[in-house]
Amino acid sequence: MFRIGCHLSVAKGFLDMGRTAVSIGANTFQFFTRNPRGGSAKAIDPEDVRSFLEFSEENDIKHLLAHAPYTLNGASADPGVRRFAAEAMTDDLKRMEFTPGNCYNLHPGSHVGQGVDEGIKLVISMLDSVMDEDHSTTVLLETMAGKGSEIGRNFGEISRIIDGSRMQDSIGVCLDTCHVFDAGYDVVNDLGGVLDEFDDIIGLDRLKAVHINDSMNSIGSNKDRHSRIGEVNLGLEAMIRIINEPRLRTLPFYLETPNELPGYAGEIAVLRSHYVSQ
Ligand code: FE
Ligand code: FE
Ligand code: ZN
Repeated sequence: MFRIGCHLSVAKGFLDMGRTAVSIGANTFQFFTRNPRGGSAKAIDPEDVRSFLEFSEENDIKHLLAHAPYTLNGASADPGVRRFAAEAMTDDLKRMEFTPGNCYNLHPGSHVGQGVDEGIKLVISMLDSVMDEDHSTTVLLETMAGKGSEIGRNFGEISRIIDGSRMQDSIGVCLDTCHVFDAGYDVVNDLGGVLDEFDDIIGLDRLKAVHINDSMNSIGSNKDRHSRIGEVNLGLEAMIRIINEPRLRTLPFYLETPNELPGYAGEIAVLRSHYVSQ
Protein backbone atom coordinates (compact mmCIF):
# COMPACT_ATOMS: atom_id res chain seq x y z
CA MET A 1 0.00 0.00 0.00
CA PHE A 2 1.16 3.51 -0.81
CA ARG A 3 2.23 5.47 2.26
CA ILE A 4 2.43 9.15 1.35
CA GLY A 5 2.29 12.40 3.29
CA CYS A 6 3.96 15.75 3.66
CA HIS A 7 5.42 18.09 6.22
CA LEU A 8 2.69 19.55 8.49
CA SER A 9 2.65 22.29 11.11
CA VAL A 10 2.63 21.01 14.69
CA ALA A 11 1.25 24.33 15.98
CA LYS A 12 -2.25 23.05 16.73
CA GLY A 13 -1.17 19.67 18.04
CA PHE A 14 -1.32 16.05 16.95
CA LEU A 15 -5.05 15.59 16.38
CA ASP A 16 -5.03 18.62 14.09
CA MET A 17 -2.14 17.15 12.08
CA GLY A 18 -4.00 13.84 11.79
CA ARG A 19 -7.16 15.56 10.53
CA THR A 20 -5.16 17.73 8.15
CA ALA A 21 -3.38 14.67 6.77
CA VAL A 22 -6.70 12.95 6.04
CA SER A 23 -8.09 16.12 4.45
CA ILE A 24 -5.29 16.22 1.86
CA GLY A 25 -5.31 12.50 1.09
CA ALA A 26 -2.24 11.66 3.18
CA ASN A 27 -1.85 8.59 5.40
CA THR A 28 1.37 9.68 7.10
CA PHE A 29 3.13 12.98 7.86
CA GLN A 30 6.28 14.70 9.08
CA PHE A 31 6.46 17.54 11.63
CA PHE A 32 9.09 19.59 13.46
CA THR A 33 9.58 18.67 17.10
CA ARG A 34 10.17 22.36 17.85
CA ASN A 35 10.84 25.64 16.08
CA PRO A 36 13.17 24.59 13.23
CA ARG A 37 15.42 27.59 13.80
CA GLY A 38 15.12 27.99 17.52
CA GLY A 39 15.00 26.01 20.70
CA SER A 40 11.53 26.17 22.15
CA ALA A 41 9.25 23.13 22.20
CA LYS A 42 5.56 23.29 22.93
CA ALA A 43 4.50 21.10 25.86
CA ILE A 44 2.82 17.88 24.75
CA ASP A 45 -0.83 17.62 25.71
CA PRO A 46 -1.48 13.97 26.67
CA GLU A 47 -5.20 14.40 25.93
CA ASP A 48 -4.44 15.63 22.40
CA VAL A 49 -2.07 12.68 21.85
CA ARG A 50 -4.69 10.22 23.14
CA SER A 51 -7.32 11.58 20.73
CA PHE A 52 -4.77 11.55 17.92
CA LEU A 53 -3.78 7.93 18.51
CA GLU A 54 -7.43 6.92 18.39
CA PHE A 55 -7.99 9.00 15.24
CA SER A 56 -4.90 7.57 13.52
CA GLU A 57 -6.04 4.03 14.32
CA GLU A 58 -9.44 4.68 12.74
CA ASN A 59 -7.97 6.46 9.72
CA ASP A 60 -4.88 4.32 9.15
CA ILE A 61 -2.33 7.07 9.77
CA LYS A 62 1.07 5.49 10.40
CA HIS A 63 4.82 6.13 10.39
CA LEU A 64 5.02 9.60 11.90
CA LEU A 65 8.33 11.22 11.13
CA ALA A 66 9.52 13.86 13.58
CA HIS A 67 12.17 16.22 12.19
CA ALA A 68 14.84 17.68 14.48
CA PRO A 69 15.43 21.46 14.29
CA TYR A 70 17.97 22.63 11.69
CA THR A 71 19.97 24.35 14.43
CA LEU A 72 20.67 21.03 16.11
CA ASN A 73 24.35 20.44 15.28
CA GLY A 74 26.13 17.80 17.29
CA ALA A 75 29.18 18.12 15.02
CA SER A 76 29.85 21.77 15.82
CA ALA A 77 33.24 22.98 17.02
CA ASP A 78 31.41 25.14 19.57
CA PRO A 79 30.71 23.26 22.83
CA GLY A 80 27.67 25.48 23.48
CA VAL A 81 26.11 24.48 20.16
CA ARG A 82 26.86 20.82 20.89
CA ARG A 83 25.31 21.13 24.34
CA PHE A 84 22.11 22.59 22.86
CA ALA A 85 22.05 19.74 20.33
CA ALA A 86 22.35 17.06 23.00
CA GLU A 87 19.77 18.72 25.26
CA ALA A 88 17.24 19.30 22.49
CA MET A 89 17.59 15.77 21.15
CA THR A 90 17.34 14.24 24.63
CA ASP A 91 14.13 16.19 25.21
CA ASP A 92 12.78 15.31 21.74
CA LEU A 93 13.39 11.59 22.26
CA LYS A 94 11.60 11.76 25.60
CA ARG A 95 8.63 13.48 23.96
CA MET A 96 8.61 10.94 21.12
CA GLU A 97 7.60 8.28 23.64
CA PHE A 98 4.11 9.84 23.70
CA THR A 99 3.80 8.44 20.16
CA PRO A 100 5.96 5.33 20.49
CA GLY A 101 7.55 3.31 17.72
CA ASN A 102 8.00 6.12 15.19
CA CYS A 103 11.05 7.76 13.60
CA TYR A 104 13.09 10.88 14.37
CA ASN A 105 14.90 12.42 11.42
CA LEU A 106 18.18 14.21 11.99
CA HIS A 107 20.56 16.15 9.73
CA PRO A 108 23.86 14.59 10.83
CA GLY A 109 25.40 18.05 11.27
CA SER A 110 28.04 20.42 9.90
CA HIS A 111 31.66 20.18 10.97
CA VAL A 112 32.24 23.89 10.24
CA GLY A 113 35.90 23.64 9.38
CA GLN A 114 37.19 21.01 11.82
CA GLY A 115 37.05 18.37 9.12
CA VAL A 116 34.73 15.52 8.46
CA ASP A 117 36.56 12.99 10.68
CA GLU A 118 36.25 15.16 13.78
CA GLY A 119 32.62 15.97 12.87
CA ILE A 120 31.72 12.31 12.55
CA LYS A 121 33.38 11.54 15.89
CA LEU A 122 31.35 14.27 17.59
CA VAL A 123 28.05 13.13 16.03
CA ILE A 124 28.67 9.56 17.18
CA SER A 125 29.42 10.71 20.68
CA MET A 126 26.21 12.77 20.77
CA LEU A 127 24.09 9.87 19.53
CA ASP A 128 25.69 7.54 22.06
CA SER A 129 25.02 9.97 24.88
CA VAL A 130 21.39 10.86 24.08
CA MET A 131 20.02 7.59 22.68
CA ASP A 132 18.87 4.93 25.06
CA GLU A 133 17.91 1.25 24.78
CA ASP A 134 14.59 2.06 26.46
CA HIS A 135 13.51 4.42 23.67
CA SER A 136 11.14 2.97 21.07
CA THR A 137 12.09 5.57 18.45
CA THR A 138 14.35 4.87 15.47
CA VAL A 139 16.71 7.77 14.74
CA LEU A 140 17.11 8.40 11.01
CA LEU A 141 20.17 10.12 9.58
CA GLU A 142 19.16 12.15 6.54
CA THR A 143 21.22 12.02 3.35
CA MET A 144 22.43 15.59 2.79
CA ALA A 145 23.12 17.74 -0.28
CA GLY A 146 26.63 18.61 0.91
CA LYS A 147 26.23 22.37 1.16
CA GLY A 148 28.86 24.10 3.27
CA SER A 149 30.48 21.55 5.59
CA GLU A 150 27.49 19.23 5.90
CA ILE A 151 28.23 15.69 7.02
CA GLY A 152 26.22 12.95 5.31
CA ARG A 153 26.89 14.16 1.75
CA ASN A 154 27.61 10.61 0.68
CA PHE A 155 26.61 7.13 1.79
CA GLY A 156 30.09 6.49 3.19
CA GLU A 157 29.81 9.29 5.78
CA ILE A 158 26.37 8.06 6.90
CA SER A 159 27.69 4.53 7.18
CA ARG A 160 30.67 5.62 9.29
CA ILE A 161 28.33 7.29 11.80
CA ILE A 162 26.10 4.22 12.06
CA ASP A 163 29.02 1.80 12.34
CA GLY A 164 30.67 3.92 15.00
CA SER A 165 27.65 4.14 17.28
CA ARG A 166 26.81 1.75 20.10
CA MET A 167 23.15 2.47 19.26
CA GLN A 168 23.34 1.26 15.65
CA ASP A 169 20.37 -1.11 16.09
CA SER A 170 18.16 1.97 16.58
CA ILE A 171 19.63 4.04 13.74
CA GLY A 172 18.29 4.11 10.18
CA VAL A 173 18.45 6.39 7.17
CA CYS A 174 16.07 8.78 5.44
CA LEU A 175 16.84 9.23 1.74
CA ASP A 176 16.07 12.74 0.47
CA THR A 177 15.74 12.65 -3.33
CA CYS A 178 16.62 16.35 -3.76
CA HIS A 179 19.62 16.05 -1.44
CA VAL A 180 21.14 12.91 -3.00
CA PHE A 181 20.68 14.39 -6.49
CA ASP A 182 22.35 17.63 -5.43
CA ALA A 183 25.08 15.52 -3.82
CA GLY A 184 25.78 13.87 -7.18
CA TYR A 185 23.76 10.62 -7.10
CA ASP A 186 21.91 10.15 -10.38
CA VAL A 187 18.48 9.02 -9.17
CA VAL A 188 17.04 10.15 -12.53
CA ASN A 189 19.04 7.96 -14.95
CA ASP A 190 20.47 5.32 -12.61
CA LEU A 191 18.13 4.81 -9.67
CA GLY A 192 18.99 1.11 -9.56
CA GLY A 193 22.71 1.82 -9.45
CA VAL A 194 22.27 4.38 -6.65
CA LEU A 195 20.29 1.87 -4.59
CA ASP A 196 22.90 -0.85 -5.25
CA GLU A 197 25.53 1.54 -3.92
CA PHE A 198 23.35 2.37 -0.92
CA ASP A 199 22.98 -1.34 -0.25
CA ASP A 200 26.72 -2.02 -0.54
CA ILE A 201 27.77 0.85 1.71
CA ILE A 202 24.94 1.24 4.24
CA GLY A 203 22.57 -1.69 3.67
CA LEU A 204 19.03 -1.24 2.36
CA ASP A 205 17.64 -2.70 5.59
CA ARG A 206 18.63 0.65 7.17
CA LEU A 207 16.49 2.67 4.78
CA LYS A 208 13.27 3.60 6.60
CA ALA A 209 11.87 6.68 4.85
CA VAL A 210 12.08 8.76 1.68
CA HIS A 211 11.80 12.56 1.41
CA ILE A 212 10.40 12.95 -2.06
CA ASN A 213 11.35 16.34 -3.51
CA ASP A 214 12.41 17.69 -6.84
CA SER A 215 15.49 19.92 -7.01
CA MET A 216 15.90 23.48 -8.31
CA ASN A 217 19.54 22.77 -9.08
CA SER A 218 21.51 20.40 -11.24
CA ILE A 219 23.10 17.13 -10.23
CA GLY A 220 26.17 17.55 -8.04
CA SER A 221 25.39 21.22 -7.30
CA ASN A 222 25.53 20.70 -3.49
CA LYS A 223 22.80 23.34 -3.17
CA ASP A 224 19.71 21.92 -1.39
CA ARG A 225 16.81 23.91 -2.83
CA HIS A 226 13.66 21.80 -3.04
CA SER A 227 11.12 22.21 -5.77
CA ARG A 228 7.67 20.78 -6.42
CA ILE A 229 7.03 17.30 -7.76
CA GLY A 230 7.89 17.11 -11.42
CA GLU A 231 9.21 20.68 -11.54
CA VAL A 232 12.75 21.18 -12.79
CA ASN A 233 15.62 18.70 -12.53
CA LEU A 234 14.29 15.31 -11.46
CA GLY A 235 10.96 15.49 -13.26
CA LEU A 236 7.74 13.53 -12.91
CA GLU A 237 8.97 10.41 -14.71
CA ALA A 238 11.80 9.99 -12.19
CA MET A 239 9.36 10.51 -9.30
CA ILE A 240 7.08 7.81 -10.71
CA ARG A 241 10.02 5.40 -10.98
CA ILE A 242 11.07 6.21 -7.41
CA ILE A 243 7.67 5.52 -5.79
CA ASN A 244 7.24 2.28 -7.76
CA GLU A 245 10.80 0.98 -7.39
CA PRO A 246 10.53 -2.47 -5.72
CA ARG A 247 13.15 -1.57 -3.09
CA LEU A 248 11.40 1.69 -2.17
CA ARG A 249 7.68 1.22 -2.80
CA THR A 250 6.82 -0.08 0.67
CA LEU A 251 8.58 2.78 2.49
CA PRO A 252 6.77 5.91 3.68
CA PHE A 253 7.23 8.92 1.36
CA TYR A 254 7.17 12.50 2.69
CA LEU A 255 6.88 15.60 0.52
CA GLU A 256 8.96 18.60 1.57
CA THR A 257 8.11 20.70 -1.44
CA PRO A 258 7.43 24.46 -1.33
CA ASN A 259 3.64 24.23 -0.98
CA GLU A 260 0.60 25.16 1.05
CA LEU A 261 -1.96 22.45 1.81
CA PRO A 262 -3.82 22.57 -1.54
CA GLY A 263 -0.50 22.17 -3.35
CA TYR A 264 0.37 19.15 -1.22
CA ALA A 265 -3.08 17.65 -1.83
CA GLY A 266 -2.47 18.01 -5.57
CA GLU A 267 0.97 16.37 -5.42
CA ILE A 268 -0.36 13.50 -3.29
CA ALA A 269 -3.17 12.94 -5.81
CA VAL A 270 -0.73 12.95 -8.74
CA LEU A 271 1.65 10.49 -7.09
CA ARG A 272 -1.24 8.24 -6.01
CA SER A 273 -2.53 8.14 -9.54
CA HIS A 274 0.88 6.86 -10.73
CA TYR A 275 1.47 4.32 -7.95
CA VAL A 276 0.97 0.86 -9.39
CA SER A 277 -0.71 -1.34 -6.78
CA GLN A 278 0.34 -4.97 -6.79
FE1 FE B 1 15.69 17.54 6.52
FE1 FE C 1 14.66 16.26 3.62
ZN1 ZN D 1 16.64 19.99 2.06
